[in-house]
Amino acid sequence: MQTSDAFAGLECQECGERFDADELRPSSPDSQTRQDAADAAGRCPDCGGALAPTYDYDRIDLDRETLADRSFDSQWRYRELLPFEPSAAVSADEGGTPLVEGSSLADELGVGELYVKDDGRNPTGSTADRGLSVALTAARERGVEAVALASTGDGGQSAAAYAARADVDAHAFLPSRSTFTNKAMVNVHDGEMTVVGGRIGDALDAAAESIAEEGWHDLGWFATPYRHEGAKTALFEIVEQLDWEIPDAVVVPTGAGVAAVGVHRAATELERLGLIDELPAIYVAQAAGCAPIVDAWEAGHDEPEPVEYPDTICGGIEIPDPPGGALALDAVAESGGGAVATEDPDILDSAIAVAANEGLEVDASAAAAVSGAWELSRTGEFDDSDTVVVLNTGAGSKTDDVLRSHLMGQGI
Ligand SMILES: [Zn+2]
Repeated sequence: MQTSDAFAGLECQECGERFDADELRPSSPDSQTRQDAADAAGRCPDCGGALAPTYDYDRIDLDRETLADRSFDSQWRYRELLPFEPSAAVSADEGGTPLVEGSSLADELGVGELYVKDDGRNPTGSTADRGLSVALTAARERGVEAVALASTGDGGQSAAAYAARADVDAHAFLPSRSTFTNKAMVNVHDGEMTVVGGRIGDALDAAAESIAEEGWHDLGWFATPYRHEGAKTALFEIVEQLDWEIPDAVVVPTGAGVAAVGVHRAATELERLGLIDELPAIYVAQAAGCAPIVDAWEAGHDEPEPVEYPDTICGGIEIPDPPGGALALDAVAESGGGAVATEDPDILDSAIAVAANEGLEVDASAAAAVSGAWELSRTGEFDDSDTVVVLNTGAGSKTDDVLRSHLMGQGI
């Protein structure tokens, strides 16, 4: 594998066990080592915890000036803090997205400054591209022939696109409620799609069964160590775009927990390297109809209880049993952040308000972060000196029908 200089293998996020990346190789039926078991399963063979790349941070020589000299054109500019060399990357120049100031939104919320990190402007229109670029790089380096995942939509579309670039077969399992755009584009990228009746839990079950039968490489949330790793780069960019000012809050729309876990991890790495001296507060934003992480945070629990009857229009983040839930709660606690849930009408109203007043297109699920920020300012969590960043995880055009239906229903 063409790993980066300081990459020191995979580390279990639960028990701390490390696995040597140099031994990674395509799994075979007779591979019996713990290393292979960890790599094939994507999780720690000792405790089942999620894995994440780790680095020999003493070997990383990175300063603000070095970064400033690099063009702001893709996430691979942070090569010291990614596991693979840019020359090996399966990349479509994901990342490098704009941080757009929203002055009317800042006024409405009563905060000092508000910015939208517009990850809807990634190659397939979502923040999933960051992680799937890294995950497909790992898969190609391992010689994998086919990847598979269950997804609420954006991840399936993105995986199909990056698998196409990697010349790997992609199998996406999407619940029937996924958007037309997501389903159509999986096919257009030459991915094989299975539409599963029901919701994400049904798609996860169907994917798990086929993955076990076919031996496909699993790209599900936290089944690969690399999607939350790619998600880190959004925070690296935000801090640089703010000229190294640390935002008081980063509000992250949250389903599985990939983005929330990733951005917090990025901040801890910048702090460890001495590039920043405090952590931005991470706020998890969910839809009230499926808010297991928010519920756990408010109850003081370390991990979420699965939601039995999820019900929100925000299908992209309707994940009743989030695989990154415990890690997202850690991120919130360590960063001094919080968690907030808002109702569907408020979420859709906020997407429409941002489109109408700021001209920015935020998809229905990502808008949970906008309405979450609104709620946090209403409850006094933010004040008029705060700099708040909202992560827009998906392009508004992905859910144009949902947003327009809501608009028409209001009689506007
Ligand atoms: Zn472990």
